[in-house]
Amino acid sequence: MNTIIRNGRIIDPANQRDEVADLLIVDGRFAPLSQLSTLKSQPDEINASNLIVSPGLIDLHVHLREPGFGWKETIESGARAAAAGGFTTIVCMPNTSPVADSPSTIAWIKDRATEVACVNVLPTGAISKGLMGEELAPIGSLAQAGVVAITDDGRCVQSNELMRRAVEYARMVGLPVFDHCQDYDLVGKGVVHEGYWSTLLGLPGWPSAGEEAIVMRNALLAELCDHHIHCQHISAAGSVRILREAQARGVRISGEVCPHHLALTDDRIQNFDTNFKMNPPLRTREDVTALLEGIADGTIGILCSDHAPHAGFEKEVEFDTAPFGITGLETELGLFLDLLVHQNKTVALARLLEMFTVNPARLLQIDAGTLSPGRPADVTLIDSELEWTFDASRSQSISRNTPFDGWKLKGRAVRTIVAGRTVWKL
Ligand SMILES: [Zn+2]
Repeated sequence: MNTIIRNGRIIDPANQRDEVADLLIVDGRFAPLSQLSTLKSQPDEINASNLIVSPGLIDLHVHLREPGFGWKETIESGARAAAAGGFTTIVCMPNTSPVADSPSTIAWIKDRATEVACVNVLPTGAISKGLMGEELAPIGSLAQAGVVAITDDGRCVQSNELMRRAVEYARMVGLPVFDHCQDYDLVGKGVVHEGYWSTLLGLPGWPSAGEEAIVMRNALLAELCDHHIHCQHISAAGSVRILREAQARGVRISGEVCPHHLALTDDRIQNFDTNFKMNPPLRTREDVTALLEGIADGTIGILCSDHAPHAGFEKEVEFDTAPFGITGLETELGLFLDLLVHQNKTVALARLLEMFTVNPARLLQIDAGTLSPGRPADVTLIDSELEWTFDASRSQSISRNTPFDGWKLKGRAVRTIVAGRTVWKL
């Protein structure tokens, strides 16, 4: 089945293209418009007037919860939520049960995704066996099994020596290393940002230094091993500063930001609502300002959700004991468009899409993130001006743990196309 998308504003940051034009899809791949006259039958037409035609969006930080935690999310439901959020490719984290630390679990995830997922699902493998931080996972075999990165996300390798060896192995097999940056000694039992509100409410503090210490460690190891380390869900002002300084010296280190760390600050925990409990925690207005500056000057080049579904019965407990994390796939694009493009004017639309397409594709070294002829036809149609209200009860995700229920947002994906096939439509 062939399709032509008519009259949309095509924004393809990889090719520095921004123009109103038609986009042709032949046999699931992008094709030059010149091929139109050679087609045996008329292609299907999609009218994209007043819409943005973007390369399919990529989210490189998602928890799909399978195998092992199917009551929170499944590969099928998580993929549906991704499609509804405008994402055509998602990267899933290895903190499943069993942990994705062996080629057989990676094979299971890939098989399952092929069977049931409506978007591309790319697995990561663990850095350490069982995410225990004691012994390296078989990184070479994981690479052969098809992981796109290694990470212990949810946990953090504390031993600098073990992390060094992980980075060296990853370099040998050509995989980027992702890291959830958390120093266990400094963070202890911390559940919220250490500061005014943690003191007032008597909740254990999670200091910014707990993140910054590991971002600094990673900068040193990336330099020592001359290999890429990507710091996940950056939340603290000091982390941005460390990344900026290291990048200026040519160190191969990058960072990502999640919408909740821009949209919310730690004063939100006053009512002890566990939908405001995430790891790393919500921080201060100064941290938000630093994150925005980091995005504006390019220090932060990737946006993601850290979609972390949990069932209601798990979240509806005391703040201290509730699990960390919120769902995010369906609100992510709207929040970032609203915060970064409409409200703060931090970046232009093309730059926002770059952070969702070509930048993650380059880091992951995958054949996606552009509308170039010959590439798989993954496309997201976006109405950047559409005002809408997020209704969590109608979410595609199995879980409802979001602080954004009822939020009014501006900008939304209206159609998601994977390999030429529409997988979601508003
Ligand atoms: Zn994490």
